Amino acid sequence: MTNILFTLPWPPPARATLRPVVPVFLPYAGCPVRCVFCAQHIQTGRGPAPLDLTLKSTRAHLLQRKARGLPPAELAFYGGTFTAQPPAALHACLDFFERAREEGLVTAFRCSTRPDAVDSRRLSLLRDAGCDMVELGVQSFHDAALAAARRGYDGGVARAATDAVLAAGLRLGVQLMPGMPGVTPEIFLRDVRLLCEQPVAVPAHAVRFYPCLVVEGAELADLWRRGEYRPWPLDQTLDTLAEAWLMALHARLPVIRMGLAPENELRAALLAGPWDPALGARVMARALLLRVRRALAAGNPKELVRLEVPRRCQGFFWGSRGELRPAWAALGLHAEPVWISENTLRIEAASPPGEAVAPFSGRKGEI
Ligand code: SF4
Repeated sequence: MTNILFTLPWPPPARATLRPVVPVFLPYAGCPVRCVFCAQHIQTGRGPAPLDLTLKSTRAHLLQRKARGLPPAELAFYGGTFTAQPPAALHACLDFFERAREEGLVTAFRCSTRPDAVDSRRLSLLRDAGCDMVELGVQSFHDAALAAARRGYDGGVARAATDAVLAAGLRLGVQLMPGMPGVTPEIFLRDVRLLCEQPVAVPAHAVRFYPCLVVEGAELADLWRRGEYRPWPLDQTLDTLAEAWLMALHARLPVIRMGLAPENELRAALLAGPWDPALGARVMARALLLRVRRALAAGNPKELVRLEVPRRCQGFFWGSRGELRPAWAALGLHAEPVWISENTLRIEAASPPGEAVAPFSGRKGEI
């Protein structure tokens, strides 16, 4: 029997790679339409408020941070279509940022917007004002899915917007929505592949996966009640996101968010859909299992002899309420793995005669 050692990189903790971000929520600001799935006031836990009040409370927060000795943050204008705001509102935001930067409260800002609301003029304005990253609410690059969700643009516009952001010298963030009307797991993984795989890769700097939910107050709730929309089941969402997360890992594309934050408003208004307050951790648990399983299955069938895992995976390794224990046991892991401090998975495997490791199917009940 020959023992074989695999060493696979595992990403460093997100906090080590990100600057502190202070969000400024501007629900629906500049939005040309109300998208069928969108209920910003519920998803963010903040209702629309006059811009001057929002900026005033943000300033108070930034001053508090400074008084506590915290480092300057990055400001993030989220919740609307930042670049399509009326000029007075847009310039009020840019002026606010400039003043805060002069006072050493912030270093840069980022904003979220729609792919059909960016052009070289607006992007240059943002860059010259100190913008660092533009996050595009692409949701999908797939024409039929975008049409089904009535997003108002097609995949070509989405792709051109990503190019425009990069051409302006800005960092690019992309938000995708698995389970949006018209988006199947295959279409979602195709979208992720577009961000990750050469020669067609969109060289994004960060990606967010927001599984589509049905919340009271969004048009999707009516479609769901009439049986015209069915959200993805949670189990399918977890498996599909695990696959997508591994693709992003392989492409060194940081996944900076999976799922919505567990705001009380969201919990109260959620009607259906794959929501879990620990969605990201559950996805990473499945991705880790999938990665080890694939490493073992590569080449000759192999059995796990020893597994070393970064200590920070300890909290989610076995999955929610130990749901992944049977799958790990099937690979030969019956006790705790060895916890290590490096950003690495180390797998020692052997090839016992006639003992095959079952291939991963990702279907319910099998992991
Ligand atoms: S999804 Fe984006 S563009 Fe659509 S209504 Fe919500 S914030 Fe506005």
